[in-house]
Amino acid sequence: MDCAYNNGMVEKIVSDVKIIKEQNTEIKLLKEITVEQKEQLETMAKSMKAQEEFIVNISHELKTPLNVLSATVQLFNMHCNDGSLEEMKNSIVKYISSMNQNCYRLSKLINNIVDSSKIETGFFELHLTNNNIVEVVENIVMSVTNFTDSKGINVIFDTNIEEKIIACDTEKIERVVLNLISNAIKFSDKGGEIFIDVKDKGRFVEISVKDNGIGIEEKNLESIFDRFKQVDKSLSRNTEGTGIGLSLVKSIVELHSGFIYAESEVGKGSKFIFKLPSEKVSNESVVNSSKISSKNENVKVELSDIHFC
Ligand code: ADP
Repeated sequence: MDCAYNNGMVEKIVSDVKIIKEQNTEIKLLKEITVEQKEQLETMAKSMKAQEEFIVNISHELKTPLNVLSATVQLFNMHCNDGSLEEMKNSIVKYISSMNQNCYRLSKLINNIVDSSKIETGFFELHLTNNNIVEVVENIVMSVTNFTDSKGINVIFDTNIEEKIIACDTEKIERVVLNLISNAIKFSDKGGEIFIDVKDKGRFVEISVKDNGIGIEEKNLESIFDRFKQVDKSLSRNTEGTGIGLSLVKSIVELHSGFIYAESEVGKGSKFIFKLPSEKVSNESVVNSSKISSKNENVKVELSDIHFC
């Protein structure tokens, strides 16, 4: 066979192989992009579903207290019109207390929705000051004893240190601890016990809220911190809630450069542990933590979704 002809054939084959290789790479790339896109679409669909569920939940949560308020207003109107206001004084006092409770519920919901979107958009700010964290947590615990007593739940505070000064935003830490205590009450039975512990762990301060309530299934232990996530309602007694609380708690702890996790056993109880760095803000004197009382509006707002008998 002629050598020039042979060379031409080889060149042609090499060029064809190159084209085929390139085409194969392109096809492979196309496949990879499609798989990637598929995953993105699935993630988007999941997030849209979670948001849809959130809107349904939040509408229900907003409507429930609103319905109570509107029904009570109608009732008052009726008593005004038929002149029985004085006669109904005792029940009216109860209705006013229920209206109050429902106003707090609405406040909590609105605060949570606003803060949750502030966190999403990066507008949620901390005001760090140097505080004795032991005192801060102990004051919060003292402020809920009235509520827990009326629910027949025992709250025990323990610590291995008298004083530990760290940088924190006391108002936000108050919300974290109240939220965890509120959940612990919500998912515990009468006669239950809640242990709140502050431990000095050197580089970190560890704060934990432990209950002996219904517990959480292991598969849900991480996702309960996701925004809008609630444990399957058929498995828990919880018939209300928005699933914002723990995601806010996690964000606040992380903004303090700390971290949070949960341990639990179904039927035995749950323990939420968060750790805050043992650091101080410079050029700041120690702020004396002011006592918060059970009459404090913040406490009433944070515990507003617990029903007291
Ligand atoms: P919600 O406002 O719906 O209570 P959270 O974010 O506070 O939302 O909690 C998310 C879910 O985690 C709750 O719906 C509940 O199923 C579960 N959970 C939280 N704390 C506890 C607890 N101490 N014991 C049992 N389940 C809990």
